[in-house]
Amino acid sequence: MSLVNCRIHGREQIVLEPLAPLAPTPDEVVIRLGAGGICGSDLHYYFEGRVGNFVVREPLTPGHEASGVLEKVGSNVKGLEAGMKVAVNPSHPCGRCAACRGGRENLCERMFFLGSASVFPHAQGMFADQFILGARQVIPVESDISLGELAFAEPFAVGLHAVQRAGGNLTGKRVLVTGAGTIGSLCAIAAKLAGAAEVTVCDVLDRPLEVVMQVGADHVFRSDLADMKDHAGRFDVALEAAGHPRALLSCLEGVRRGGVIVQVGTLPHDGMQFPANLVMQREIDYRGAFRWGVEFDWAVQYLAERKVDVRPLLTKQFPLDQAVEAFRLAADKTRATKVQVMGTDIPMTF
Ligand SMILES: [Zn+2]
Ligand SMILES: [Zn+2]
Repeated sequence: MSLVNCRIHGREQIVLEPLAPLAPTPDEVVIRLGAGGICGSDLHYYFEGRVGNFVVREPLTPGHEASGVLEKVGSNVKGLEAGMKVAVNPSHPCGRCAACRGGRENLCERMFFLGSASVFPHAQGMFADQFILGARQVIPVESDISLGELAFAEPFAVGLHAVQRAGGNLTGKRVLVTGAGTIGSLCAIAAKLAGAAEVTVCDVLDRPLEVVMQVGADHVFRSDLADMKDHAGRFDVALEAAGHPRALLSCLEGVRRGGVIVQVGTLPHDGMQFPANLVMQREIDYRGAFRWGVEFDWAVQYLAERKVDVRPLLTKQFPLDQAVEAFRLAADKTRATKVQVMGTDIPMTF
């Protein structure tokens, strides 16, 4: 088997480079890629060569949502052995800054997050047949969950964290989720888990709304066709997962006085108008949710124990050497929710 490393060299330039087998230091493990989900930031790196201010300045292996199988285990590592199925935690906080010590590691001032050009040299990601990480980045899983499902741990953690930011306990609450892509759908699943009485999801496309119904949304509507006045003040909590100014407006109109909005999506960097007086007059709590902390471990547990079923969200899997096709499909929201690349010789199942 020849190993492949998928690297972005610049805008719309993916190069499939050969990869020599890796060897771990005593505290590291070598992971064989199982499934790797293509996320919005991976698409931005590929199609634009950048995500906002983070520009690809050297070849970057993308990918921060992955599962795998342990290939080699360093001599000091306890409790892990070759052949184990693992979820991979892409977050590497410093553990020493005020945010880390205060229990909010996702806000770490010196974060090293895999598959990101936010630092230089870049934090290389996981769209490679093999990659090396510290042993603490992996969580072994014994259940019969597929590698494809396990790769949802990262985006599901985003949804769980959004719900935590909304207060955690949503018992009896009416929740609006704007955006029915992967993150919006996983926010809807997380809200149901947290006890929400009713979860309503809106989007501007029919296909994702059909998918989110399959994972448990109670109601859906087309935000571009609906009159938000019909929904005004109806929701206790709104989770904004579309990253679109219009969707944020829907949240501001949709939540009741004193309601909570959690911003999960990335809004445009420039030129956005924000009607802040609505926040003031209606005493809305407008909060951010950035990645996740301990929720990654929760996500792995929920998935491994099949407390949630993410399979309707997985549109298609491609072998790693068809990464270009995979990225193209992933970018087409009329056809795809989550698209994954699979390690060479890993069977495609989900
Ligand atoms: Zn992601
Ligand atoms: Zn830190």
